[in-house]
Amino acid sequence: MTNLSFAPMPDEQGYFGAYGGQYVPTELQKVMNDINAAYEEIRQCTEFQQELASLFADYVGRPSPIFHAKRLSDQLGGAQILLKREDLNHTGAHKINHCLGEALLAKFMGKKKVIAETGAGQHGVALATACALVGIPCEIHMGQADIEKEHPNVVKMKILGCNLISVTRGTATLKDAVDSAFEEYLKDPESFIYAIGSVVGPHPFPKMVRDFQSIIGTEAREQCLTRYKRLPDVVTACVGGGSNAIGIFTAFLDDTQVKLVGVEPAGEGLDTQRHAATLTKGKPGHLHGMACYVLEDEDGNPAPVHSIASGLDYPGIGPQHSYLNDLGRVDYDSVTDQETLDAFMRLSRVEGIIPALESAHAVAWAIRTAPTMQPNQQILVNLSGRGDKDADFVANLLNL
Ligand SMILES: *Cc1c(COP(=O)(O)O)cnc(C)c1O
Repeated sequence: MTNLSFAPMPDEQGYFGAYGGQYVPTELQKVMNDINAAYEEIRQCTEFQQELASLFADYVGRPSPIFHAKRLSDQLGGAQILLKREDLNHTGAHKINHCLGEALLAKFMGKKKVIAETGAGQHGVALATACALVGIPCEIHMGQADIEKEHPNVVKMKILGCNLISVTRGTATLKDAVDSAFEEYLKDPESFIYAIGSVVGPHPFPKMVRDFQSIIGTEAREQCLTRYKRLPDVVTACVGGGSNAIGIFTAFLDDTQVKLVGVEPAGEGLDTQRHAATLTKGKPGHLHGMACYVLEDEDGNPAPVHSIASGLDYPGIGPQHSYLNDLGRVDYDSVTDQETLDAFMRLSRVEGIIPALESAHAVAWAIRTAPTMQPNQQILVNLSGRGDKDADFVANLLNL
């Protein structure tokens, strides 16, 4: 049985260096502290650990395999590319790992309803799945404009039995869905729980979501040692809020010979306004209840950001990434929409694996970097999700 790994960060107040914390009204700080206390209690409880471990095994299908992308590596003529196959998880991505943890915690705390927002619907589907399994009511707020765009995820959420709230205010997209979901949560934060979809938001969410996702790196490190008798030279992952990246990085943080690289979306170019490369181009600030790097417009508001991958389209980034960036333990680089599309098609045609557009960012970085390395070296890529959800979009874009 695989256990969760728990890194020592953050401190008691939820700080990773100068980042993190709880930038929320005092009433909510109390509620967040209750969530933290409940989490600290269950994470030390063997029964909870066993329940989560058996769900990971029998429900999610863990451990996810590591696949050596040999044809792709041979074509590139440099380092060997290894893929950690989170795309093979039930529901098709890494998000189910923390959604199960959050749903179990909600049940343990006797919460009456789990609330969340969703943009493209990926977090919504993973959460609705976990709530159906655990048997707890789930309410997902989604912008009407997104509902019209994301039909397959919308019907899945309905089939899974969640209460899908269509948000029509403002531009009827993600930001309005966040506002709407948060208003509902504030009606009764003692009875409800807001399930955050990445390593962002007020303490304890960046810590909790990190812990639930750290199974990815714990498995991958063991798998590499067993099969190759060595650690990879580089571990890379795409970064939106940062949950799949911190999930694979955590187990390798103390292995300082292993280079860790987070890949941000450079969109249509870092010199345009159409990107979401928060650590590359942003600066320290506050967003959604935490201190972190933020991309801001001239008025100091969160900038309207862009990525071809809707899951990376976020003007902030988790506090632990902000700190690891300043410490220099993780390098943050970026790839454009075009490099991402090329990588999406190339992995599909050379290895028969259609990646999520989010994950294709990390693949694109590996494709760019492998030729600069030696054939006896290895790049481990976290393939965070599968591309079924993106297939129609890409086919239209490329006139396939
Ligand atoms: C949501 C999502 C992401 C981005 O979220 P992180 O918290 O940065 O991991 C990446 N990949 C896939 C497949 C996603 O669904």
